[in-house]
Amino acid sequence: MALVLDNALLLDIDPIRVERGGLRLENGMIAARGPDVVPMSGDTVIDCGGAVVMPGLVNGHTHLYSALAVGMPPPREAPRNFMEILQRVWWRLDQALDADSIETSALIGAIAAARCGTTTLIDHHASPRTIEGSLDRVESGIARVGLRGVLCYETTDRHGARGREAGLAENDRYLARVQSAGRGQFAGLVGAHASFTMDDAALAASAELCRKHNAGIHIHVAEDPCDEADCRQNHRCSVVERLSRFGLLTPQSIFAHCTNLPTSDISRLQDAGVTVAHNARSNMNNGVGYAPVGAMNGQMMLGTDGIGGDLFAEAKAAWLIARHAHAEVSPGNIVQMLARSARRASESLGVTLGKLEVGAAADVVVTDCVPFTPLTSENAIGHVLFGLHAGHVKHVFVAGRPVLQDRRVTGCDEAEACRTATSVGAALWRRMDAIP
Ligand SMILES: [Zn+2]
Repeated sequence: MALVLDNALLLDIDPIRVERGGLRLENGMIAARGPDVVPMSGDTVIDCGGAVVMPGLVNGHTHLYSALAVGMPPPREAPRNFMEILQRVWWRLDQALDADSIETSALIGAIAAARCGTTTLIDHHASPRTIEGSLDRVESGIARVGLRGVLCYETTDRHGARGREAGLAENDRYLARVQSAGRGQFAGLVGAHASFTMDDAALAASAELCRKHNAGIHIHVAEDPCDEADCRQNHRCSVVERLSRFGLLTPQSIFAHCTNLPTSDISRLQDAGVTVAHNARSNMNNGVGYAPVGAMNGQMMLGTDGIGGDLFAEAKAAWLIARHAHAEVSPGNIVQMLARSARRASESLGVTLGKLEVGAAADVVVTDCVPFTPLTSENAIGHVLFGLHAGHVKHVFVAGRPVLQDRRVTGCDEAEACRTATSVGAALWRRMDAIP
């Protein structure tokens, strides 16, 4: 049976295009679009009332495991730099995670994403005391909401050879599983923390997994100057050069942040076709600097780095910091980052995301935003950055199935999920408090 979204203001972001008309969703795909789409008998019809209808958004880099950190007690001593933020906050939180809190975090993060019109999450997971099977629990939390996910486990040497081997094994296991059972909803990448916490053996084994599964690596790169400094001191080269020596500069690779790269390495990433995940709000929150978005135009996608699932807010922040920093980017370049997130997820999942075109996945956001100024293909970018916001999101479909209806998630009881999360989160914080 088909679902027809009638009387819509279709707003495409890749490329930017605005058209009045309808969308026919059938068999998980967009079967027709435009002014000629009319409901037929037997169709389910939603009258969009002339409001904006968009493709579902894709979070290019996130950490669902941090969803229960909202309101968490601060560390006893306030962190003074990026390394202390990791050591005193995130590297204690990830150690406190158990299987149930992993799934609950993913569930709460996925609900928050759905409410913002985010339908696919490229996630980077860490739970050093609960590694085996952890990606299944992340997947389960996302699946309960009905979203899509591209998942990985962050391999690192922070917990010795055993931790490293368990991280590699979890990536290997999950990649093998989703290759046969992902069905376009779930896919995997080879997760890696960052150069400064990985020995050569960890990088070599990660590169081997990339080749084995024909998957890209998903790694933090030069998020803070400490990553580059560590590499120069211990490996006598830049982070990008080190990753290159392991064959990790490929069009499948996702490098998160790239905030502090030497200019010569930026062009190497461009030549290799690496996708860089820009996380404007996280970078500001951590005080790690501003990514060279002007120089990396066209290869950047947008992520939240765990600060919620709201890509409207992230895009606006990315634009504001670009203005503040006098970066050579246009508002259109910021919207292109949203498009790039969808393209990168599409490559992993094997479906077309981020487009309202015939044959694309029926991942669609219906808003209640009826513009109060003209909205055309020529000025749509301004509406995306300054008109639309997550509060406009009314219905969300993934593969044609409703995951949000009248602002209520359909896949689970949200109130019950929040009650569970409150107690799971409190227990998580207590365990964390006991970790030195
Ligand atoms: Zn990150």
